[in-house]
Amino acid sequence: MVRKTPKKLLKKFQNEVNNTIYDFSDCSICGICCKDETLTMKEPDINRISRKLAIDKKSFLNQYTHYNIETEETVMNMPCPLLKDNRCTIYDIRPEICRNFPVFILEEGIVIINNIEECAKATHFFESFLDFCSKRYQDHYKNLIKNNHFPKSDSSVKNAVLPIKLIAAFIIWLNKD
Ligand code: SF4
Ligand code: SF4
Repeated sequence: MVRKTPKKLLKKFQNEVNNTIYDFSDCSICGICCKDETLTMKEPDINRISRKLAIDKKSFLNQYTHYNIETEETVMNMPCPLLKDNRCTIYDIRPEICRNFPVFILEEGIVIINNIEECAKATHFFESFLDFCSKRYQDHYKNLIKNNHFPKSDSSVKNAVLPIKLIAAFIIWLNKD
């Protein structure tokens, strides 16, 4: 059975990752994440944003989202109607998933770097991570590559799935200066 990481700890680590990426990887403001991603909305997101837009929840859901029957999740319409001139019009209160994009920490103890091919932020983060691994964890890194635990940088795989411990070590290394 997979041991789950406590939610509070996950949130703390996710915030730390978000802040590190914000300082370290430049966003090219291409807007791809707001035009062509599956962004799941949580209840607090829906409440907060509908309040800000001064519309009731039902109108917000009808106007801006749709329901995915297969995953049973509320998903933002794409391209996101809240994007104007490639800028988020609700940036300060954007949904949690938008704040976390493109690196997601999951409770199963894994980290997903999303859309490495297209997102400049994700590409920079992933390339630097590989660089860190090759310098710091040579044997471990070789074994991970050998066992296909994560794709090489030239792989056509869009998302990297990585062990949380390795990303934690990378974040500490990035923040050490
Ligand atoms: S809410 Fe903002 S950040 Fe999120 S998809 Fe829409 S425009 Fe992009
Ligand atoms: S896809 Fe990546 S680089 Fe482009 S706007 Fe989104 S976060 Fe920034």
